[in-house]
Amino acid sequence: MPNAPRYCPHCTLELARGTPPGDTHERLHCTGCGYIHYVNPKIIAGCIIEREGKYLLCRRAIPPRPGTWTLPAGFMEAGETTEEAALREVWEETGVRADIFAPYSVFSVPRISEVYIIFRATVIEETGQFGTETLEYRFFEPADIPWDEIYYPAIRQILERYILERQAGVYGIYMGNDDTGKVHFIR
Ligand code: ZN
Repeated sequence: MPNAPRYCPHCTLELARGTPPGDTHERLHCTGCGYIHYVNPKIIAGCIIEREGKYLLCRRAIPPRPGTWTLPAGFMEAGETTEEAALREVWEETGVRADIFAPYSVFSVPRISEVYIIFRATVIEETGQFGTETLEYRFFEPADIPWDEIYYPAIRQILERYILERQAGVYGIYMGNDDTGKVHFIR
């Protein structure tokens, strides 16, 4: 477990692993003062942004997997809404100011305790200025998308679905995990 504390932050006793009284999960906890170290999933928020049939991707400058392409997305900060987090990540990673108009995908990756929330958004302004986590960004025609350089299968699937749905003119919302789930069409 990354960054698991060893000592209780309140009374400095060594934390024990086990199921605390009245709890349902094994957790690190303090048998002295009752402190419980909760580990909850992290939320990653991002956007799929299409402009005139082209799709916004950014190329990572930092680990993991520098040089690969992905949708602009990143970890929510405390105090943000998911929409604010998604738009901030788009801004930081591509310099694009965007506006969200619909949810598009909610997928869980329980293996690593992460939840991805991806919105559909539209470009308000393209400033050309972006942060140091990105090497470059580009709007790709579907035929030019570097599929082999998009590391995450779930991100490839989101792009593939969007391209097909755009052709059909009907958009769904995916809910599931990173390999099985369902696209919900709301009528
Ligand atoms: Zn304690």
